[in-house]
Amino acid sequence: MIKAYLNKNHIILKTSKGKVFQFAAGTAITDMLDDSPYAQFPKGKTKAAALLEQFYAAQDLSIPEQMALFAGIGFSVVIEESDGKAVPVITVKSAEELCALELITLMKSRKPLKRCEHCGEYFFPQGRSDAVYCDRIGADGFSCKKIGAHRQYRKNSRTNDVKAMYDKMTKHNRYLKNSGKISERDYDRWMASVSESYAAYKNGDISERTLMTRLSETLSPAGRSARRDISDYLL
Ligand SMILES: [Zn+2]
Repeated sequence: MIKAYLNKNHIILKTSKGKVFQFAAGTAITDMLDDSPYAQFPKGKTKAAALLEQFYAAQDLSIPEQMALFAGIGFSVVIEESDGKAVPVITVKSAEELCALELITLMKSRKPLKRCEHCGEYFFPQGRSDAVYCDRIGADGFSCKKIGAHRQYRKNSRTNDVKAMYDKMTKHNRYLKNSGKISERDYDRWMASVSESYAAYKNGDISERTLMTRLSETLSPAGRSARRDISDYLL
């Protein structure tokens, strides 16, 4: 038998042998690993896992259907004295009840259920509710959160490199235009083209290579450019 004490969204479990587990609701449930509180119930972990699966699937169910998930679960609560206060203590008799306790606590604290963008598994964010990666450790020894952070960092630094190139090329061509080395008309046309391309790149519509090709276009030197577009005659 395990006693459970609730403190906001944290659950404190005390086994009859005096072992204590303390965790945020939604963290023990995620993997039900061997060193988790679920290991205290060697039998019946399957039932808990089944309840968890149903809960994941229940996100699209109506409220009565969601309520039906917990229909068979009834906790017994006793009052204990702790530091001169009367505190409610829940008796947890099975892994399934522990799972239900975690889920109910999560529902109460309105923690959203998310699907990790790296491993695709469900998780309950413990910090920011807009978190997109879970804390599971993959075969490579890194957590999804760590891999995600690294990927984002690489993406950002890549984006910064492109931005630096864009700034450098626009500055360079503006200098050429201001010093009369290229025509204002060519510069304006190029500028309109690259700013549109840069927006398209940021939007993911064109590749980095396409943007770079457009950025590095050599503009014709002023004076020597006798080439006139057909549109010049139409204007
Ligand atoms: Zn993950």
